[in-house]
Amino acid sequence: GWGGGDRDREVNVQVVLRCRPLSEDEQRANVQSAISCNDPKREVTVLHSLFKQADKTFTFDKVFGPKSQQRLIYDHAVAPIVNNVLEGYNCTVFAFGQTGTGKTYTMEGEMRQKVSELPDTAGVIPRAVRHIFDILEARKADYSMKVTFLELYNEDITDLLALENQSRFPEDRQKRHITLMEDGKGGAVIRGLEEIVVYSPRDIYSLLERGSARRRTADTALNKQSSRSHAVFSINIHVKETTVGNEELMKCGRLNLVDLAGSENIARSGVREGRAREAGEMNKSLLTLGRVITALVEHSVHVPYRDSKLTRLLRESLGGKAKTCIIATVSPSVHSLEETLVTLDYASRAK
Ligand code: ADP
Ligand code: MG
Repeated sequence: GWGGGDRDREVNVQVVLRCRPLSEDEQRANVQSAISCNDPKREVTVLHSLFKQADKTFTFDKVFGPKSQQRLIYDHAVAPIVNNVLEGYNCTVFAFGQTGTGKTYTMEGEMRQKVSELPDTAGVIPRAVRHIFDILEARKADYSMKVTFLELYNEDITDLLALENQSRFPEDRQKRHITLMEDGKGGAVIRGLEEIVVYSPRDIYSLLERGSARRRTADTALNKQSSRSHAVFSINIHVKETTVGNEELMKCGRLNLVDLAGSENIARSGVREGRAREAGEMNKSLLTLGRVITALVEHSVHVPYRDSKLTRLLRESLGGKAKTCIIATVSPSVHSLEETLVTLDYASRAK
């Protein structure tokens, strides 16, 4: 978890668990719940006793049971990170879990662009946006903000905000080639990615909507591409401050909000048995992310950032002073028990 004790060995990775409620369909079909959450004790128990096996309990930095509202997750898991971003740090929030467990619901949620007030179902991204603007406006800060939104699929980057995809010329509608380059300072630069300047929460909401609509379109075309791709929404903020001595100081922070590919991709590639070789390109980024987080948590000398595009592009936002929050999502359904165990195993190892 965050903070605590020895400053040099402080780990800035927090792993929280969210269990979604049974859906209406599941309730109607009398699907049994196989997960029990004890939020105050930060424990999740998998009820293996349903299969006459011993129950298994996992502990996380925080546990959000099925009744937890979007706002609670934001306030407890994400809001502290936003304060760091405004101080000039890079931070990342990940949603990790099996397809259908609420990653996109947690990150984006449901939005109504027409109203200025956020609906209760709004997820982490719109809440973070609102929070950031509220703080900056209350401070009467001099700031500028830019966003990018990309999708990583099979180690290929697609710009979810690129405008030329709407061109009436088919050749222009091809994806613009986007390359990831090293900046020589240990960071990464993405060539060809649209960076859009935003002036209000509403600007960002409509960009988010535009990008997610494109993800959904890709889903019908390519058979659920979104379950195998990572979506990275980044907010870059520059805040100008004046020191007591009247000097100007620029604080640059970035918040990355990442909706990861479905964790079932890891299970299928055999990582549970410690065999990653079959994974191939399929989800190199998901596997590498796991290794990077483990290396950070264990204070390893070597952190394998370079092994995947996702970790290369988030390198400056993982490790060091950067705070990372992983929101692991699970379904309570007894039918998902096996996948749930994979998620719990993987996520509890990241602490
Ligand atoms: P994923 O992105 O992990 O594949 P989704 O976010 O699409 O999963 O969620 C699957 C379905 O479950 C969606 O219909 C979503 O609205 C619903 N859902 C997920 N989490 C919750 C929750 N905490 N409360 C209510 N509905 C949820
Ligand atoms: Mg999703």
